[in-house]
Amino acid sequence: MGDYSTLGDVAGKRVLVRSDLNVPLDGTRITDDGRVRASVPTIRALAEAGARVVVVAHLGRPKGAPEDRYSLRPVAARLGELLGQEVAFATDTVGDSARAVVDGLGDGQVAVLENVRFNPGETSKDDAERGVFADQLAALADAFVSDGFGVVHRKQASVYDVAQRLPHAMGGLVATELEVMKRLTEAPERPYAVVLGGSKVSDKLGVIDNLLGKADRLLIGGGMVFTFLKAQGHEVGKSLLEDDQLDICRAYLARAEESGVDIVLPTDVVVDTAFPSGDRTPEPRVVPATEIPADCLGLDIGPDSGAAFAAALADAHTVFWNGPMGVFEVAAFAEGTRAVAQALTEVDGLSVVGGGDSAAAVRALGFEESAFGHISTGGGASLEYLEGKQLPGIKVLED
Ligand code: ADP
Ligand code: MG
Repeated sequence: MGDYSTLGDVAGKRVLVRSDLNVPLDGTRITDDGRVRASVPTIRALAEAGARVVVVAHLGRPKGAPEDRYSLRPVAARLGELLGQEVAFATDTVGDSARAVVDGLGDGQVAVLENVRFNPGETSKDDAERGVFADQLAALADAFVSDGFGVVHRKQASVYDVAQRLPHAMGGLVATELEVMKRLTEAPERPYAVVLGGSKVSDKLGVIDNLLGKADRLLIGGGMVFTFLKAQGHEVGKSLLEDDQLDICRAYLARAEESGVDIVLPTDVVVDTAFPSGDRTPEPRVVPATEIPADCLGLDIGPDSGAAFAAALADAHTVFWNGPMGVFEVAAFAEGTRAVAQALTEVDGLSVVGGGDSAAAVRALGFEESAFGHISTGGGASLEYLEGKQLPGIKVLED
């Protein structure tokens, strides 16, 4: 749990909590509320201690201006249901509405501010511009608690700059996530296997560099696998491909061989002639990974690969998994992800799922959260930690 003792007695104080409430929405319906649920314990602990809790968070990627579809209003409502108490909502982040809502809070009450990314100062690369916005945020509170693990790798006003302006503490969620990350990096019980997938290929290639010195096995599926297959000289048709990363992938394969790290790539792939879309029924086909037809794209690892991946995880004592093995949102391309998720539930040791979509995938496929050692709320943050990078939102709390 979080340690808020550095803040003194919070009763009656306005405490600004940076949470990660960035949930997937279908219109105004939350399709996976995992991040809201993960944010509840810190908010509840502060409210129970008598604080006036002001939650600041973002949703999606608005471009520094209000957009209805990115409003946090439905998320604030869900937070209220989960907390079992009324949650006030400010229709702006640092303006008249925010000031009025914060002024109206009694001890133990909770408010959510509108999407912090509706303000250009939040994500500005200009320190001064971020600073001006952070001053406005800081004016709303007496103390700051950093609890949005999904954003601690970002040097943003509500994550970084505001911590320099208020007495601050690490929230319980961030503390728990960091403990798990430490277990993955400091002395992982071996064999240590890492499974990587998903679609943000170049984002995720960086972590491989560091993992080649740490993990015993690296299993690669999802969209990034095609850049590896191509690097090995195979044609990948219309699959997701990052041409400018081919040399890097080749170098990784060579280094893995030298350092004795097993890289496990799929031997078969589920393909279709088009990316799944609403107006077309999927026509999945399984082909060898080395024979992807020119008019097809790979959308999942095949059944042989699913079994091989599960076998490569069976005796591991530490497993970190980030990124779905295929387009799991469509049932025809979800089996690879299911096979890996199932294998993680059977790990004798520590199993960690990281990444927004990966976490949503295991829940959507019907797995119990308790079947995994830990489901991280932060994809990018956990990857950057594993890359060995310093996370600005953590560093600033230690200064
Ligand atoms: P996470 O949020 O867990 O870090 P990413 O955001 O990197 O994961 O990727 C998730 C997305 O990757 C999913 O929406 C899934 O449909 C997509 N994906 C997985 N495999 C493929 C593939 N072969 N081609 C295209 N997209 C893929
Ligand atoms: Mg994602």
